[in-house]
Amino acid sequence: MSSEAIVNIDIQGKLPKVASGKVRDLYAIDDDTLLFVASDRISAYDVIMENGIPGKGALLTSMSKYWFTYLPQHVPGLKTHYLSDHLPEAITDQIALKKRSMQVRRLRIIPIESIVRGYITGSGWNEYRKSGTVNGIKLPAGLIEGQKLPQPLWTPSTKAEVGGKDENISPQKAREIIGDEKIAARVEELSLAIYKAAAERAEAVGIVLADTKFEFGLTEKDEVVLVDEVLTPDSSRFWPKETWEQNLDKAQPSFDKQFLRDWLTGEGLKGMEGVTVPEDIVSKTAEKYREAYEKITGQAS
Ligand code: ATP
Ligand code: MG
Repeated sequence: MSSEAIVNIDIQGKLPKVASGKVRDLYAIDDDTLLFVASDRISAYDVIMENGIPGKGALLTSMSKYWFTYLPQHVPGLKTHYLSDHLPEAITDQIALKKRSMQVRRLRIIPIESIVRGYITGSGWNEYRKSGTVNGIKLPAGLIEGQKLPQPLWTPSTKAEVGGKDENISPQKAREIIGDEKIAARVEELSLAIYKAAAERAEAVGIVLADTKFEFGLTEKDEVVLVDEVLTPDSSRFWPKETWEQNLDKAQPSFDKQFLRDWLTGEGLKGMEGVTVPEDIVSKTAEKYREAYEKITGQAS
């Protein structure tokens, strides 16, 4: 892994920038194709940290590519936005971008975050503690934190603009936002099927996929396609299977940014702008990301 984090991507104006998210910058290659570049930026609680995690962008891109190949082989009918990992002609000289970039189909994004939870934790646990529900869905009494749910749940959230905060919503509300019954049903069906396939793969390598977030786009013919990044430590909670049971009712150790979240909470910095993450938290977080990558893909980082 490179030692310096790249927080600002610079492609010297060679392609028009379409959007810049918390982690990724998107450039137009042509009307139908985007260059999707993952920086080393890291966000937690919807706020971007001042410094990045060296090598993170490349890891997230490799991991997403792994899943974009794996998933269509395991989820019947699944299409993804992934096209290739080649740099477009305009920037072939920018080797530093290669590992962190992919070419994807440019699609209309469905404006919800399609979250699936197999285990109860995080904001799901917070809601359950107060009301016995998760995203308004009634659950059996007596669940403990970290417990496996009777079945994986589709627990969507809104997709806030940069600077905003995503809010958990009921499946019914998500269907209303999507605005088309058939498309909404497909989004839910695919989300649960992808979660199941991924959770099985993760389990086989000793990882519990506690929850994860997908995004979907629509083709001109309204076909639902998996987009964005997928099943990375940024969008998922990965727990070591070995220690899951002994850590029920407690915070689970995890291969993801939970480490950073816990540090922020502990320091009273949760949700604050302008935070610089100290070197030891940066390197521990990088180590967690690497571990997740190596375990899931079976490849050295
Ligand atoms: P979000 O919460 O929307 O993911 P973010 O700040 O996390 O915001 P990034 O992940 O940094 O965003 O940037 C990726 C952006 O690209 C997202 O807004 C996502 O909806 C969008 N996107 C992903 N895939 C495609 C695609 N195939 N076509 C168009 N836009 C896409
Ligand atoms: Mg994102």
